[in-house]
Amino acid sequence: MNVFQTLGLEAHLLQAITDLGFETPSEVQEKTIPTLLSKECDLVALAQTGTGKTAAFGFPMLQKINIESRTTQGLILSPTRELCLQITNEIKLYGKYCKGLNVTAIYGGASITDQAKNVKRGAQIIVATPGRMKDMINRRLVDISKIDYAVLDEADEMLNMGFFEDIKSILSHTPEEKSTWLFSATMPKEVSIIAKKFMSNPTEITVGHKNIGSKNVSHEFYLVGSRDRYPALKRLADANPNIFAVIFCRTKRDTQKVAEKLIEDGYNAGALHGDLSQNQRDLVMKSFRNKQIQMLVATDVAARGIDVDDITHVINYQLPDEIETYTHRSGRTGRAGKTGLSMVIITKSEQRKIKSIEKMIQKQFVKKEIPQGMEICEVQLKALAHKIHETEINHKIDNYLEEINALFENASKEDLIKKFFSVEFTRFYNYYDKAKNLNAPKGNDNFSEKNETDNSARFFINIGKKDGYDWMRLKDFLRDSLELGQDAVFKVDVKDSFSFFNTETVHMPKVLEFFSDFKQNGRYINVEITEKQDRSRQRRKGKRRNDSQKSRGNFSKGRKQRSSDFKKGSGHSRPRRNRRR
Ligand code: ADP
Ligand code: MG
Repeated sequence: MNVFQTLGLEAHLLQAITDLGFETPSEVQEKTIPTLLSKECDLVALAQTGTGKTAAFGFPMLQKINIESRTTQGLILSPTRELCLQITNEIKLYGKYCKGLNVTAIYGGASITDQAKNVKRGAQIIVATPGRMKDMINRRLVDISKIDYAVLDEADEMLNMGFFEDIKSILSHTPEEKSTWLFSATMPKEVSIIAKKFMSNPTEITVGHKNIGSKNVSHEFYLVGSRDRYPALKRLADANPNIFAVIFCRTKRDTQKVAEKLIEDGYNAGALHGDLSQNQRDLVMKSFRNKQIQMLVATDVAARGIDVDDITHVINYQLPDEIETYTHRSGRTGRAGKTGLSMVIITKSEQRKIKSIEKMIQKQFVKKEIPQGMEICEVQLKALAHKIHETEINHKIDNYLEEINALFENASKEDLIKKFFSVEFTRFYNYYDKAKNLNAPKGNDNFSEKNETDNSARFFINIGKKDGYDWMRLKDFLRDSLELGQDAVFKVDVKDSFSFFNTETVHMPKVLEFFSDFKQNGRYINVEITEKQDRSRQRRKGKRRNDSQKSRGNFSKGRKQRSSDFKKGSGHSRPRRNRRR
C-alpha cells in the first residue's frame, strides 16, 4: 500500500508516484500536500534542499488546475535556468497521466520565440527564471493575469541573486486572489519581507533539519597547508577511482581555475559558474548527468538545488563564507536512499568553522588524513583488478590473438599478470613515489619536539625600509602571502635593506617553501633561518628544503610523465580509464 494514498491525491497522480518509485512521502510533502489540496491559501514552507519540495507543490498544483483549459493557471519562479529545467522535467513526470498537460520552461539564453510559441500552444503551467519572465511579460508574450497559483521556489536564493524587483514586477501582473506558495531553505529577513508583502496570512510549515539525504551523508575533513589544496584534491580523486563528485569553490575564478587544472591533469572535469554562457552551462550539465564528466567544479549559486542521481562525493575545496551554505552543498549527495560523503579540505585557520558546522548539522566530522601516495597506488591497482575481473570478454579480439599469444608464449600466467598490471601501476607509482605528505603537521610537530621551550623560528628576509616596509606593512605582507592567521607572524624588526621576523616552527616549512621561488618587482625575495638556531634544527632545515624541493620536482615530473604517457599510450587517456560507466 502506497502511503501517498492518504494525502488526498487523485489516482493518476498516485500512479505517477508509483512509477517514480517514491514509497513514502517526505515530511514536507506530508505536511504540505493535504493542506494545499484542502483549501485555497498562501503558504510558506521552510525545508532544506533535497527534501522533495518540488513534489510538495507540484502534485497539488497538478490536481488543482484545469487541464482541459489552455489558460496559464500556475507560475513557478525559480532562481536558475538549471533548476527551472529540472522542475519542468519533474512536473512533466508527475503529470505524465494528465492528458493535454503543457508545462513550459522560460529562461534566458535560449530562443525567446520558441518559448513564446510553447506558451501560445496553451501552457497551463509556466516554470520561469525571473529575468526572462519579466522580459516576456514586457513583450506581451505571456499572460499571467489569470493564474490561480504562484510558486516562489528557492525564494532565499532568488533574493540572494537580486531578483526582488523582478519578482515584485512579475507578481504585479498576477491577480490579487491567487494563492502564493513560497518555498525556501532558510528564512532570512528578505524572505519574510516577501512573505509579508505578497501573501496574506500564510500557513507556515517548517520541516526541522531533516533532509531526505542528510542522514545518509557522512562528513570528513582534511587538514592541509594552504598551498596544498589542489594536490590534496587530486589525491582524494585518485584514492576514489569511481568518484562522481561535485566540487565546490568559493569564487567563479577558483571554480574555473580548479576545473582547468583537473582537465589539464587528465581528469574528466567541468566547470559550472555564472560567467559561462547558457550554452556552455547546458553542455556541462548534460555531460555531468550522462556521467561523461566525473567531477563537476561549481559555485554555490550555479549548483543550487541541482539534483543529479548517484553523486558519491561532495568536495568542499574551500568552505563557503556562510556556514548555512554547507547544508546545500552536502545535500547534493546521499539522495534517494543512497549514502554519500561530504569532504572538506581546510587549513589550520579554518578549523573553527568545522565546529560551527557540526553544531548546525548536528553531526560530527571525522578528521581524515590525505592518503599517502602508496595507498593510492594500491587503491588504483585493486580497482583495476576488479574492473578487469568484471569485464566481459569481447570476442572480436579473438581474430588478433594469434600474434599476441605468440608474443607471450613463454610467459607464465604470473608474469603476465604482473606485466599487465604494471602498465597502469607504474604510471601511478612514478607519479606518487616519494610524493610528500600533504597533511598539515600536528600542533607540536617534529620541528619543535626537541626544542619545546622555544617553538618559534626567526627568519631573515632581504627586504626592508628601502623597499617601503615598516613593521606593520611587512607583517601584513607576510601574513597575506603565507595565508597565515592574525598573530602567526611576530617580532617583526625592519632594518634598512633587510628585516627579521618570527613564526611558529610549524610554519617554517611553509615559509621556506613559499620564498624558495618568489619574486617581487623582478627581484627574488630570500628568506633564511637566522643563525641563532641550534645545529640540529639547522640540519633539519637543510633537509626540509631538499625534501620539499624534491617532492615538487617529483610532482611536476610525475605530471609530465603522465601526460606523455597519455600521448604514447594507444590513445587511452586517464579519463577514459577512470570513467565510471
Ligand atoms: P528540493 O526541491 O527540496 O531540493 P527535490 O524536489 O529536488 O528537493 O527532490 C529531491 C529528490 O528526491 C528528487 O530526485 C526527487 O525525485 C526525490 N524525491 C522527492 N520526493 C521523494 C519521495 N517521497 N521519496 C523518494 N524520493 C523522493
Ligand atoms: Mg527544489
